[in-house]
Amino acid sequence: MRSHYCGGINESHIDQEVTLCGWVHRRRDHGGVIFLDLRDRDGMSQVVIDPDTPESFALAEKVRSEFVVQITGRVRRRPAGTENSNMSTGQVEVLGKQLAILNAAATPPFPLDEHEHVGEDVRLKYRYVDLRRPEMINRLRFRSRVTSYVRNFLDGNGFMDVETPILTRATPEGARDYLVPSRTHEGSFFALPQSPQLFKQLLMVSGVDRYYQIAKCFRDEDLRADRQPEFTQIDIEASFVDEETLMSLTEDMIRALFKDVLEIALPAFPRMPYKEAMQRYGSDKPDLRIPLELIDVGDLVAGVDFKVFAGPANDEKGRVAALRVPRGGELTRKQIDDYTKFVGIYGAKGLAYIKVNDVSKGVEGLQSPIIKFLGDDVAQAVIERVAAEDGDIVFFGADKTNVVNEALGALRIKVGHDMKLLTTDWAPLWVVDFPMFEETPDGGLTAIHHPFTAPSCTPEELAASPATALSRAYDMVLNGTELGGGSIRIHDQSTQEGVFRALGIGDEEAREKFGFLLDALKYGCPPHGGLAFGLDRLIMLMTGATSIRDVIAFPKTQSATCLMTQAPGEVTDKQLRELHIRRRKPAAKAGEGSVAQQAEES
Ligand code: ASP
Repeated sequence: MRSHYCGGINESHIDQEVTLCGWVHRRRDHGGVIFLDLRDRDGMSQVVIDPDTPESFALAEKVRSEFVVQITGRVRRRPAGTENSNMSTGQVEVLGKQLAILNAAATPPFPLDEHEHVGEDVRLKYRYVDLRRPEMINRLRFRSRVTSYVRNFLDGNGFMDVETPILTRATPEGARDYLVPSRTHEGSFFALPQSPQLFKQLLMVSGVDRYYQIAKCFRDEDLRADRQPEFTQIDIEASFVDEETLMSLTEDMIRALFKDVLEIALPAFPRMPYKEAMQRYGSDKPDLRIPLELIDVGDLVAGVDFKVFAGPANDEKGRVAALRVPRGGELTRKQIDDYTKFVGIYGAKGLAYIKVNDVSKGVEGLQSPIIKFLGDDVAQAVIERVAAEDGDIVFFGADKTNVVNEALGALRIKVGHDMKLLTTDWAPLWVVDFPMFEETPDGGLTAIHHPFTAPSCTPEELAASPATALSRAYDMVLNGTELGGGSIRIHDQSTQEGVFRALGIGDEEAREKFGFLLDALKYGCPPHGGLAFGLDRLIMLMTGATSIRDVIAFPKTQSATCLMTQAPGEVTDKQLRELHIRRRKPAAKAGEGSVAQQAEES
């Protein structure tokens, strides 16, 4: 039907006859001549139709925005002075001879170049129109380039693409499962995979040796801005490898990918133990573009009368840390108040600070409401510890360790951006030496990665002190975002049982839930490990998109609905009966509380 894409026409086609198909982006009547901007996924061409072709001219008068048309005509140079250097096709135009309307279109729900003025809910409801926008279609194209690069890289390194089931049993990655009731087995449910974790490990037992999959994962979590209930991972597993092999292979992959598709040479990835990351940055995914660090001052303030500081300083689970911000002395009272509110989001009860006017004057050169509580000597010692300079501000966090880490960790990023302190565009790293477990609020333990991660200590040491055991896990972090994570896995049954026990999963429950894994481990399981990258987040970072929804063709809303298909939707009583399910509440009246209704209301 066509000879070229609209975006593919240029000066080399002058005097050639071309046939283009696409959507009418805009129609302009110019004193007897009609201009159509014709658009397809590759770009836009200007088409001119004049009254010398009366049939086409008459049709062109009927054409409206987003009509689908076919046009045959001759490419010519645009008249001098009418070129558009912003368009790849801007030097030429097509003098249309024959126009065919392939399909009319109703007035679009929003003009494509005015999407910024419409709510995201409208864009999501008419996603197929939204995706026509060059910015959106280009992101999809970019995403496709990335997956194809990754596939080629992994294929070239001996990895095999194997699909794993979507209807399966729960795979614990720490989130809630999406459940699918079984019609044929009354009262039983499938779970959608939170990741292919167990299957990829079983493929290692099978001898697949090197596996990958661009895999859909499902997690029924309370959604945050950068989460989706279904998302895509580049999932990788290999046998007879250690962490060095896996980390260098995947680091090579990401660096080669950035080089190929973005022409960016990422620096080598430094490695940082988890403990150091938490200590210096308050985060296990530190943004190393920002040169600010948390510095412990608990030992200096442990003896002061000021309970706000002395309390956490003397509490085993507390922390008192300082964050020195160069030039922060310029911050106004209002800005400091805003930062105080900001750290409140993370549970901090306040934000103490010292402004450093003149270091050479000692305490006299400091300005702060807390100096009188700390005493001159302590204040002076703190300022020396953080090596403050004239014009700085030093912020403090004093609370439970996790509150201080989260609050000051987030503050360092916010202040870093606000004060334009970023030292580089791209700061990758590996975070290693994660603990095996963390404490749950009820005093139990939960796996930091997942329960199949190998400890770096012996099973005996693990049993003796699980809370301090480290794991053979690693996370790849870029600009404060966790791009991917994985680990060397447990490959023997007794260690796996030991980890289940540490997690409070009894032998019976372990058998019931993971019997197949425990069995497989005893039938010749090779040492193995792997990792998974979050594809959506990777694309977000690479394209600079601000929302994860902008890099997914058909994303869900923040409340996990699809405004276009109106999923989740209602089902009939008959369907429920077949699934052996009875509603606890009577069915909502048509529309009530449904996605349809929410869309109407929003
Ligand atoms: N299954 C893990 C995850 O989804 C990744 C891995 O350990 O390979 O986070």
